[in-house]
Amino acid sequence: MVGSNFHAHTVRCGHATGTEREYIEQAIAKGFKVCGFSDHTPQPFANGFVSRIRMGMEEFDGYVKTLRSLKAEYEDRIEVRIGLEAEYYPSCFEKLLEETEKRGIEYLILGQHFVPEEETGFYAGSVTYSEDDLILYVEHTIEALETGKFLYLAHPDLIHFLGDEDIYLKHMERLCAYAKERDILLEVNGLGLLINRWYPGIPFFKLASSMGCSFVFGCDAHDPTQIRQPEDIPGMTEFLAETGVSFINL
Ligand SMILES: [Zn+2]
Ligand SMILES: [Zn+2]
Repeated sequence: MVGSNFHAHTVRCGHATGTEREYIEQAIAKGFKVCGFSDHTPQPFANGFVSRIRMGMEEFDGYVKTLRSLKAEYEDRIEVRIGLEAEYYPSCFEKLLEETEKRGIEYLILGQHFVPEEETGFYAGSVTYSEDDLILYVEHTIEALETGKFLYLAHPDLIHFLGDEDIYLKHMERLCAYAKERDILLEVNGLGLLINRWYPGIPFFKLASSMGCSFVFGCDAHDPTQIRQPEDIPGMTEFLAETGVSFINL
């Protein structure tokens, strides 16, 4: 059992369901002490680009206001934290930080869904056999973490590389080495396991664990019922045994 979950979404992203209150009630029922919201951040795209996976900038204040009020209401029962899941897009990262700081956002987790930019880059979760894509993902993720602005790295193995496993591990080893050296926490993504995505993958986490990396559990809930303890996710016990991963409590 873990005490905290920092990875949960709200309906504003357009692909999640349930009310914020339902997520919080579920977190209490499941024994969490901390219920962190990290909806897909609005990104201050320069050219009017509209993303399909996140709230618009005009919804940002409502997000913070709703969560502030629930944070106060629930403070005796659970600690509600107000964060965001963000990509590092160099063209608008400074502007994003201005927007988050001005609203008192408490933490960011890194979920690098597109590389290197959303308008022009590739979706990291699309199947690829390209070693160049893999290299770009690893280098861009390291560059993102180098900003020092992220609490942890969400679904570190989001890149869906299906080429040679030795090539995969050779490049992902650099990401693990960086994480180890800089004390970057790597997330084991509960949703990925729950709905049978390609991540969290055994080869990656075996490697990361053998290199001495540290791990945190994240529900990545897009539905209140996805707020659950690791042991309530089918296959998690076996995953942890096989990879040698154990969770730290944030
Ligand atoms: Zn999402
Ligand atoms: Zn997420």
